Amino acid sequence: MKATILHGSGDVRCEEVAEPRILKPTDAIIRLAASCICGSDLWPYRGANQITEPMAMGHEYCGIVEEVGSAVTSVRPGQFVVGSFCLSDNTCSHCRVGFQSSCVQREFMTGAQAPLARVALADGTLVALAEKPADDLIPDILAVSDVLGTGWYAADAARVQPGSTVAVVGDGAVGLMGVLAARQMGAGRIIAMSRHKQRQDQALEFGATDIVSERGDDGIARIKELTGGIGADSVLECVGTEQSMSQALKSARPGAMVGFVGVPHGVQLDGQFLFFTQVGMLGGPAPVRRFLPHLIELVLQRKIRPGKVFDLELPLSDVAEGYKAMDERRAIKTLLRL
Ligand SMILES: [Zn+2]
Repeated sequence: MKATILHGSGDVRCEEVAEPRILKPTDAIIRLAASCICGSDLWPYRGANQITEPMAMGHEYCGIVEEVGSAVTSVRPGQFVVGSFCLSDNTCSHCRVGFQSSCVQREFMTGAQAPLARVALADGTLVALAEKPADDLIPDILAVSDVLGTGWYAADAARVQPGSTVAVVGDGAVGLMGVLAARQMGAGRIIAMSRHKQRQDQALEFGATDIVSERGDDGIARIKELTGGIGADSVLECVGTEQSMSQALKSARPGAMVGFVGVPHGVQLDGQFLFFTQVGMLGGPAPVRRFLPHLIELVLQRKIRPGKVFDLELPLSDVAEGYKAMDERRAIKTLLRL
């Protein structure tokens, strides 16, 4: 089959590889309904991580189960399933408190920018739908697997409450999903930080009430101005840079929570600043598995349309162009047709 392999910085190819097979009795093989490129795929693509051997890319997936290992009991061939980018047993003590992304058996999904993929820990990871969703819902269901689940976790970790004021730092796909999540959780005011017209419009469509286009000290001053000098009750940090983290912490009011889901690169925090700012932080890889049943239900009832975050659709054979378009910020998120 053809799959997406990263060979080095800026060098991603659609090339022939062996089909995945069951390696452990707890595995499943699924045939993907569609795939996509994640903002986090851009870190290795841009050379932020050392690539020592070719990497099979892709960790967002939904589709039909083809085959299961002998120990799998909760899903069976023919079922339409969705899973998280973190593979988890869903039974250990971390999973039981809703932190499946810290599962003692955790593995990270790879190889999902391809027509077939192996999912380890299938029983704990996969959620089966009662039936195959309508074709037009596939992008929405696919979005649940990571980008929406991560934006949702940012809002959950930031303890968004009905009526509260939320600031979202980052106008990438996860930031936009954070806006959607805050809206669903009943936030009274959602301030999206973005300098790009198209992304500002998307944020407004997903539920933002205010846009702040300034950055740095000016951006912080603008948020203070919009909140009567107080700061936001909840801040979603969806980038992972020193600047975005600083922006998030300084936009938060005392007693606020920052949910940070951008993978930090080069972020340093000052202990004294954290001490006196009195802002809480919770972040990390999103425990999407915790939210999957609820988010799937919202999509199937058409209450949310997270699939609108995809603004570029390409066949798998053009995956290199999909990465390039996202890298150059010409596209927010690329859907891959298989
Ligand atoms: Zn676990």
